Amino acid sequence: MSIVTLQLPDVKDSRETRPNRCPYCTGETFQRWGGTAKRVSDPHLGEVRVYRYRCCRCRRTFRHYPEGIGRGRQTARMRALAAIGWILGMSYRGSSRYLSAFGISLSRMSIWRDVQQRAEGLAREHHWKPVRVLGLDGATVRGWGKNQPVLIAVDMGTGEPVTIDYVDEKDPRAVKKFLEPLMQRLGVSVIVTDDLSSYKQVAEALQLEHQICQFHVRRWVGLAVHELKQSLSPEWIGVADEVRQILRDLPIAGDQRLVGLSRLFPPSQWGRTGSEFTPVDKLRSLIIRLAENWAQFRVFDWQPDVPWTNNPTEQVIGRMKMRARTVRGYKNWSGMVSGLMVAGVGIA
Ligand SMILES: [Zn+2]
Repeated sequence: MSIVTLQLPDVKDSRETRPNRCPYCTGETFQRWGGTAKRVSDPHLGEVRVYRYRCCRCRRTFRHYPEGIGRGRQTARMRALAAIGWILGMSYRGSSRYLSAFGISLSRMSIWRDVQQRAEGLAREHHWKPVRVLGLDGATVRGWGKNQPVLIAVDMGTGEPVTIDYVDEKDPRAVKKFLEPLMQRLGVSVIVTDDLSSYKQVAEALQLEHQICQFHVRRWVGLAVHELKQSLSPEWIGVADEVRQILRDLPIAGDQRLVGLSRLFPPSQWGRTGSEFTPVDKLRSLIIRLAENWAQFRVFDWQPDVPWTNNPTEQVIGRMKMRARTVRGYKNWSGMVSGLMVAGVGIA
């Protein structure tokens, strides 16, 4: 789970740092070659000195920017601060106004660029970062681009979004096409999802371990059992309750207990002329379905760092939804993805 911290990047004064390596050759010794004052936009510093250095090896000179300072006017700390207001839910205009209360003047446009830049930084940082356990969940949010379903992938180790794309989670071929390159690039070996059959098919095809979110399972089984109990005859009520209890306890041999329960049932009349799919048939098919999926319920018990729910993924989606209205203003998908990724990470 990602911990929300307000950690701003360091900004160093020129006097504290010297270059390590010449940008032109491999030289490592330098002479200081004069400095100039640079005005910066930063919560603490108004001006810094930037020195030029001459490489003793190739004799070329270059400007050395200290940590947190670059060619642009804003320091890294300022850019992070500008993005934070937006991530916390302010509009660009609101962020601009809020910073002006501290005597910092930044235009909406420049805050927008800061958010984009943070997104690029995140994308670079995440591109090859290994992810062992990946959470997947679909969402449809009105106003997100084409109003199409999107699929969001989350690093369960850090709770941060890895990527997002237009993919229908119910379509196993589309999910596989989305997942396979991620799996190869990041070394994913376990996925955590809700219990749609598409995920199960893809996990099998790609030979991934698969943890099914137990919140989802408990919720739908709870509802199904509750509903069945209205129409089941009294002798089956106890069986229905036991199913729910097995789900709560998630014992190692739960599937064997479920199979044992399924053997209590008389042969089904369903399919013969005039017979319906009765509540008792429904209870039995529920029990069989749970027994079949049992291995996917308990991966968290023997695989390290696998959560038993898909909660971290839902939190990321929640943070993205919070920003959906602002992100709607983006003209293209890549701008929107950047905004969503930044929003999904939150303040970390
Ligand atoms: Zn050099």
